[in-house]
Parts: sequence; structure tokens; C-alpha cells
Amino acid sequence: MSEMKLSFKKSKIGRRCTMLPHNELNAKYPMDGGYLRGQPARLPEMAEVDVVRHYTALSKRAYGVDDGFYPLGSCTMKYNPKVNEKAASLPGLTDIHPLQPEETVQGCLQVLYETQQMLNEVSGMDSTSLQPAAGAHGEWAGLQLIRAYHLDRGDDKRTKVIIPDSAHGTNPASAAMCGYEIVNVKSGEDGCVDLDALRTVMDGTVAALMLTNPNTLGKFEKGICEISEIVHNEGGLLYYDGANLNAVMGVTRPGDMGFDVVHWNLHKTLSAPHGGGGPGSGPVGCKKLLSAYLPVPVITKDDDGYHMEYDRPKSIGRVKSFYGNFLVALKAYSYLLMLGGDGLKAASVNAVLNANYMLHSLKDYSDVTYDSPCMHEFVIGLESFKKRTGVSAMDVAKSMIDKGFHPPTMYFPLIVPEALMFEPTETESRETLDASLAAIKEILTQAETDPEALHATPATTPVGRPDEVSAARNPILKYEFPE
Ligand SMILES: *Cc1c(COP(=O)(O)O)cnc(C)c1O
Repeated sequence: MSEMKLSFKKSKIGRRCTMLPHNELNAKYPMDGGYLRGQPARLPEMAEVDVVRHYTALSKRAYGVDDGFYPLGSCTMKYNPKVNEKAASLPGLTDIHPLQPEETVQGCLQVLYETQQMLNEVSGMDSTSLQPAAGAHGEWAGLQLIRAYHLDRGDDKRTKVIIPDSAHGTNPASAAMCGYEIVNVKSGEDGCVDLDALRTVMDGTVAALMLTNPNTLGKFEKGICEISEIVHNEGGLLYYDGANLNAVMGVTRPGDMGFDVVHWNLHKTLSAPHGGGGPGSGPVGCKKLLSAYLPVPVITKDDDGYHMEYDRPKSIGRVKSFYGNFLVALKAYSYLLMLGGDGLKAASVNAVLNANYMLHSLKDYSDVTYDSPCMHEFVIGLESFKKRTGVSAMDVAKSMIDKGFHPPTMYFPLIVPEALMFEPTETESRETLDASLAAIKEILTQAETDPEALHATPATTPVGRPDEVSAARNPILKYEFPE
């Protein structure tokens, strides 16, 4: 694939698209000169047809879940049924204004209310707020609930949050933003929380333990009831990172495992496309003991209809403008109604089945072992494989691009050297899984005979292996004109 010219390089002075009539108002109502540029902006000058072709060509170089297999572990890049997009684009739901009076947006409030109720039911919580805009934002809001709860009881000695070493990076970041000191707890040999290690760090200065279950290795924390007891006995609370609920929906509930707070990623588990950074939605749910602290407004229902309740004196306040990301909640609502309880359970069961199907095929290459089935995702560790062949997890992932598949998550979780994490999700067919497994095995076999070729992949993309350090440290984010 050849390199594409930037639109700036295609620019020809004077070339134009459709022209609007001259604006007479500028002369009648001149703008304050201080707000005007001295010189016209230096934008690419192109004909409409060339602009259209430019962006169409760019769009064809993108790879998304609508193009093919996308096994990004922990992130649930699953196929999002189009009916949900359709629902979220109905004019009655999009042509409204957030400042409209309550009585004119009853339908929208009903959507929000019923989504709250359904999330309560699936997670085993008592109340849920749809305000937070993303997973990390939900974590932060959830930890604020925990903070408010302890302080409200006059318990101001709790300055720490315990987080396992396999956690998603947003967990320690959110806890730090809430002013907590982070205490790391090591995973045991089996990749689960080491209960003895937890006992040594758990005391009356700990506000909460944050946990993902199944954890990021795709393993179910079998000791969860004991973990809950250890934390609760010392007066701490249990936070559930529910960004990825793909393994447990309709099967088990964080609330039943002893968790007090949970955040969701509607954009992961409940079908909202989230490539390119959003928009997301990270509802936070909690047990009764924390309900009073939820962000406002809380959507309530009585005989007169649906309301936005602001009068909640113990609330942590507002965390997002208006209602949160309404259209993302709407897609989740549509998805929940489409699947129903049985459908949600089937989605989880199929997600777990698909992950195990892949794991079975790849486990002989992996340093990480599974003595029981994995959940919705699994991790293979290629450290030994790399020592023998010189081919790294990065080489394998990049080679997948040449075979027409999106790479899995690389080098996460951090506790596994040369990690590749796969999450096929529930919607992939056996044929797709077989095709991707055949490609991966071809790569792993080639590593034995021709490792050099794999270091140079991908060969089919306009850019092969960018220098990732410079790309992160010295990003070039705007066009520099050659003067
Ligand atoms: C994605 C993810 C998050 C963060 O969610 P964002 O919406 O990206 O902020 C947190 N925890 C886990 C386990 C995740 O997979």
C-alpha cells in the first residue's frame, strides 16, 4: 500500500468546493477586529470531488470491527448490532434539547430510568447513576461515593485503596485522583489475589479494595467471598471494576459476590462503538448504604411521571453536564431490550465458550497456564517462546495484520512478560475463530524457521513499525508548512 499525500500537499491555490453566497451581514454588523485573523487560515484548497476521494481513501485504510476479527482483550471491541444505532438516531430522541422542561422529555427520562433499573438488576446493585462519561470517570465517581460514606460516618482514617497488581491502569489512577494512597497486592501463582497478602495489608486505614472479576487474566477469583469478608471485617468497601462484564451478565452478579460499588462501561459491554475515544458511558451503581451519595440528578419515577431529582443533600454533586451521554445509554437500553435476560446470559456464555475455544488451541505456546476454563478472555505469555525463537509477542501481533486480522492486546496485564491477550467476544462464528487461529499458528510455525521475516511485519500497511517511543514523546500533531 503506497503512502498517501496529505491534503495540504494536494492543495492548489484557488481550487474550491461549493461556494456560499457572500455574507452581507458582515458589512452591516462588523465584528470587533480583535477577534478577526489578520490573514486567512492556511487551509488546503481542493475541489469537492478530491476532498471526497481523499477521505474515502483514508476510511478504506482503517480497520474496525465491521471489517473483520478484532480480538482486543479487556476492551470488548464487540460487534454492535445496527438496530441499536438505528434506535439512537430516531429524530424524537435526537432532536431534543437538554434544557427542555421535564414534562416534554418524559420518553427520554423513561429510557434513562429503565436503563438504571436494568443495570441494577444485572449487577445486583440497589441504585445506579448514568452520569459518568467513561469507565475511568465511573471509577472516580464510585470512589467518591466510598469516600463520602466513610467521612459521613466520621471515619476519616481511611487513606488507602488496595489494588491487585493485575488491575487495569485506570484503577490506581482514579484512586490517586481521589487522594488515596495506593497499596498494591500481589497475585498468587494462579494469577488470582493472594489472600494472605491481602490479609497483611488490610486494616482500618483502608477505604476500599478495587477488583475486576473475572480478573484481567480472564480468571474468576474463586476466593471472592473470602476476599469480601476480609475487606468488610475491617470496615472497608468492595469496588467492582465492571468495565467488562462480558463473562458474567445473567450468570452471576457483583452484588451477590459482596461488592458495594460497580461501574459499567456501556461502550464495552452494552454495544456502543467506541473506537477513536468515545463517546462513552460509565454508569456507577451501588448498594443501599451508598445510594444517598450518588451524583445528581437521579432519575426517579412517581405517579406524575419521571423526574430529575436534584434535592439530595448528601450527593457528591454533579459529575457531568445534563444527563450524561444520553445516546450511549440509549444504545445500551436498546441492546438490553433486544437481548432480554436470556439473551444477555447467552451472550456471556458464548463469549466464554469462544474464548475457551481459542485458548485450547493456543495454550501449548503459553507460559501462563489455566487449570480451569478461562472466562471471556485469556492471556498467553510468550517469554519462553521468544527465548527460543527470538520472536516476540509484538512480532506475532504485527504479523497478524498482514494476515488480515486486528492484533490482540499486547503487553497487558503487566504481570505477564510477552503477553498477548485475546477476547474473541460472543458474536464471532466458529469459521472466523478457525481462520484467525490458522493465521496465528502459521505465524508461530514460521517463527521456528524464518524469524527475521516476522521482525519486519507488517509489510502490507502504509506504515510498518513506527518508532513508538518517539511517536509518544514527540507526536507531530499539525502540519508544518515548508516556509
Ligand atoms: C476499559 C477499562 C477501563 C477504563 O474504561 P474507559 O472507558 O476507557 O475509561 C477500566 N477497567 C477495565 C478493566 C477496562 O477494561
